[in-house]
Amino acid sequence: MAGEHKPESKNEWRFSTKAIHVGQEPDPVTGATVPPIHPTSTYTQASPGRHKGYEYSRSSNPTRVNLERCLAALEGGAKCAAFASGSAATATLLATLAPGDKVVAFADVYGGTFRLMKRVFEGFGVIPVFTDDPSPNSFAGLVDSKTKLVWLESPTNPLLRCLDMAAIARIAHATGAKLAVDNTFATPALQTPISFGADYVLHSTTKYIGGHSDVIGGAVVVKDDALMERLAFLQNAIGGVPGPWDCYLQQRGLKTLALRMERHSANALALAKHLKGHAKLSKVIYPFLEDHPDFALAKKQMCGGGGIVTIVFKGGPDAAKQAAIRFCESVRVFACAESLGGVESLVCHPAIMTHASIPKEIREARGVTDGLVRLSVGIEDLDDLVADVDQALTKA
Ligand SMILES: *Cc1c(COP(=O)(O)O)cnc(C)c1O
Repeated sequence: MAGEHKPESKNEWRFSTKAIHVGQEPDPVTGATVPPIHPTSTYTQASPGRHKGYEYSRSSNPTRVNLERCLAALEGGAKCAAFASGSAATATLLATLAPGDKVVAFADVYGGTFRLMKRVFEGFGVIPVFTDDPSPNSFAGLVDSKTKLVWLESPTNPLLRCLDMAAIARIAHATGAKLAVDNTFATPALQTPISFGADYVLHSTTKYIGGHSDVIGGAVVVKDDALMERLAFLQNAIGGVPGPWDCYLQQRGLKTLALRMERHSANALALAKHLKGHAKLSKVIYPFLEDHPDFALAKKQMCGGGGIVTIVFKGGPDAAKQAAIRFCESVRVFACAESLGGVESLVCHPAIMTHASIPKEIREARGVTDGLVRLSVGIEDLDDLVADVDQALTKA
């Protein structure tokens, strides 16, 4: 029955036990082991103002609260606010800033994050500043007394650079700024940014947390209760909240997150090793390959390398581009599609697909060339994935 789990014991639970049980207490009315989905906009009150803690579902909904509790527990944060997408989560977190506030971000953030900072919030007086250099020193050179937020992803997309969260957190905190880490690629199963000093952890739950390519969602986890005050106000005021069915799907995804991330990481590492040195490829990028520029840091921050492998085709710009396109057209188990993090394997050509909005010179200077292909390695049988990339490479 509900109430039998002692809250104290939950803090001692390990990752998957939390993922399966926090916010999943049996329904006190029926005993239903899986809590019901609450598709209600409103809540009946016994007398005006006398309610059971819920008034209106934009403000709060039991299915959403269950997801928020679970995500907060998995990230080791105090609280979580769920949103209708990763972008809604990003926009709401940026809305905590005021005109004149500076946000210092790694330039190679998710395109939609860059777009929100540059083309939405800059118009409201927020000052976004970007660095192309992932080293803590480059952040130290940009963070000043006006800086309220430092923003990074680790690993980044699609070059999989890892940034030193502990060092950058110290730099942010020295001037009173907060550190936000977009943990979409690693997920809390592989890396918990709050344990390295982050104040906010952002997710596009659309990716690994949902895990089945069937839902769009986002979340922000905060390190302490005080940070949730303004964010919870904005979650309700702006109203970019997820519906109960979407929350249910994400919570179901969380229950298998650790298992999936283990398999994604194992498949991706094996595939990266298999592809390494292939005659048609100039580069195979994976954080847990020893020749990755951030290998030591990746090993320190993550307990698995994640499910993304990036490959670059050999040859001059045109030849490499044609090879990359033929590879994407030739895969049979992998599907050519945007997004990532689902159980099914995907390939994506960032220059034409996800990163097309970045001007070519800037994109290429960052290493996102026309010969680059991003693989989101799923949890299918490794031998089938290996056979598929091998046959597609012969056609590339
Ligand atoms: C997809 C993604 C987002 C945006 O999330 P949506 O759910 O698509 O709005 C933000 N950050 C990263 C790293 C992403 O991959």
